[in-house]
Amino acid sequence: MKTKQFKAESKRLLDMMIHSIYTHKEIFLRELISNASDAMDKLYFRSLTDEKVGMNREDFAIDLKIDKDARTLTITDNGIGMTQEELEKNLGTIANSGSLKFKNENKLEDDVDIIGQFGVGFYSAFMVAKRVTVRSKAYGSDEAYQWQSEGVDGYTIEPCDKETVGTEIILEIKDDAEDETYSEFLEQYRIQGLVKKYSDYIRYPIRMDMTKS
Ligand code: ADP
Ligand code: MG
Repeated sequence: MKTKQFKAESKRLLDMMIHSIYTHKEIFLRELISNASDAMDKLYFRSLTDEKVGMNREDFAIDLKIDKDARTLTITDNGIGMTQEELEKNLGTIANSGSLKFKNENKLEDDVDIIGQFGVGFYSAFMVAKRVTVRSKAYGSDEAYQWQSEGVDGYTIEPCDKETVGTEIILEIKDDAEDETYSEFLEQYRIQGLVKKYSDYIRYPIRMDMTKS
């Protein structure tokens, strides 16, 4: 499978994420939950005018799942999902992301602390994950696609099996090193704490799968 390259500016942002200081890392969950919530808003608004959606307000939810053995944290939503083209456009370049505004308004190299203050978007996942897999099925499509990346070296997109409409983001959490540890992001209490701290305002239920932790 062919590995596609990120655009130069995306690469810069990714590089900054990967080398961000420790105290910022936890905000990845806020960013991914906010994206999930946006995607559910989109499908919900659509349901108001399109009967075929067949979903009510209370049908939408975000699911968090920890698998300590596999060292994965998975964030699942039943929002509008992404087509193959949207995966490419939205995740392959920061041009369609709030991150661009952030980049234009700030000198990245000089002021890393802006990570703590602004929404930096999807790429913040790479602060804690060594590999990110996004499996998505767009509303109205019967095909699902998987986007996968280990960071600056590029990404792949391929068809995958996914029954339900929405998006599943699988973070393979980095291994602990002497000076930096990541295993805390596989602890239920830590994830619940982050949800409370950053995502209290989200208007959809955020559920936690307790089975494997
Ligand atoms: P922003 O949220 O500011 O647009 P992000 O970097 O967080 O920027 O996300 C980039 C884009 O990727 C979003 O605008 C959206 O189109 C798409 N996206 C990210 N996560 C999801 C998701 N869970 N479901 C659907 N689309 C998503
Ligand atoms: Mg976002």
